[in-house]
Order: sequence, then C-alpha cells, then structure tokens
Amino acid sequence: MVRLPYIDGFYEVKPSKIICLGRNYAKHAKELGHEVPKEPVIFLKPPSSLIGPKEAIILPRISKRVDHEVELAVIIGKRGRRISRERAMEYVLGYTILLDITARDLQWEAKRKGLPWTVAKGFDTFAPVGPRLVDKRELDVSDLELGLKVNGELRQLARTSEMIFKIPEIIEYISSVMTLEAGDIIATGTPAGVGPLRHGDEIEAWIEGIGKLEEDVLAEESILC
Ligand code: MG
Repeated sequence: MVRLPYIDGFYEVKPSKIICLGRNYAKHAKELGHEVPKEPVIFLKPPSSLIGPKEAIILPRISKRVDHEVELAVIIGKRGRRISRERAMEYVLGYTILLDITARDLQWEAKRKGLPWTVAKGFDTFAPVGPRLVDKRELDVSDLELGLKVNGELRQLARTSEMIFKIPEIIEYISSVMTLEAGDIIATGTPAGVGPLRHGDEIEAWIEGIGKLEEDVLAEESILC
C-alpha cells in the first residue's frame, strides 16, 4: 500500500484506475514519430503497478528497453461522470508526480501489430508516485517546471504549460467515457527526453511546488533467488 504525506497527515493512494495521457507534449509526440493528436489519447495502468517513493522499479526480464516518463498526476477527489471542463476543477483533490514507466520495446511491438499497450505499461512497479500529495488549493499547476535525472544526468526538462490538453479538458474527455471515482489518478503525459533505464540506476524526478521523487532501478534477475 502506498501512503503519501498530505496536509497534516497521510493520504492512502487507492485508485480504482490510473488513466494516462499519451502524446500530450508536442516534442515528445514527435520524438516517438507521432502527429500531435486532435483529441486526448488515453490508456490505463493497473493499480497493482503503483509503488511509493524510495522503492525500486523492477526491469522485467522479457523487456530489453524500459523507459522513464515523468508526469504531473492529478488525484480525483469525488465521483463524477460527464463533467464539463468548467466544473472539472471541483473534482480535483490535488497533485503528485507519477513516473509512467514503459517497456518501450514491447510498446513498439504492440503498435506495429495494432495491439493494446497493456503489457508495455502494466508491469508491477511501473507507476511510482510521490513524494507527497499537494492539495489543489496550495498549487497552481498551469506553468510548473518538471524534470528527471538518471544518476545525476538531466534527461527530461519542460514546463506543464507545454501540455497540449489541459487538466479541465482532460477530465471532461475521460469522464465522457468512464466514471471517475474518488482516488483515481490521471497522469497527464510526459515531455520529450524519455530514455532507457538500467540495473543500478538512480532516478530523481521533480515538479516545482510538489517536490522530488526518488527511485532505484533493479533488474528482475537481481532479486530472484
Ligand atoms: Mg506517459
């Protein structure tokens, strides 16, 4: 179970689903060879992929290329469906960081075959969150720096203002498809600079006003006895 510091106590992270945006930063869409989308591209990660701060991302044996993606995550505060963009912020509890860890080789293969991304996105430990939950009243997230370093080397650096679809539009779109429940997580997409992780790497991701999320990276072989 993942618990994050929130106001004076803790928040238990227990989403019914984790909804992720693909291609929500133009430069990242381009680096993967895609057009900028006309409506949000969404997919799901299972809640079983969650880990908390200072844990370990496990690189699965069946992938040769696992990438990091730093993202601003929105935590939903109350149930809603068909939410208008004008009322969307009423449904937001707060914000954290989510790393949308991706088995890129398996995703490439799925794209080539026209198959879903579930395997590439869904391994255990592929959704680190933290370091804390920031209440929406404490932070305007419209133009924050977000970045990621691996072993101290800068890999990703951008601003949330570069997002193609903004949070109210994203909530309007997702809730036109599926009911959003309190606790659900929306990961709003990653900027350019995604790249591979290796056994022994140390990740440091940050978003201005939220803090720094640190994770280790381990090969699956290294933890099997
Ligand atoms: Mg992503």
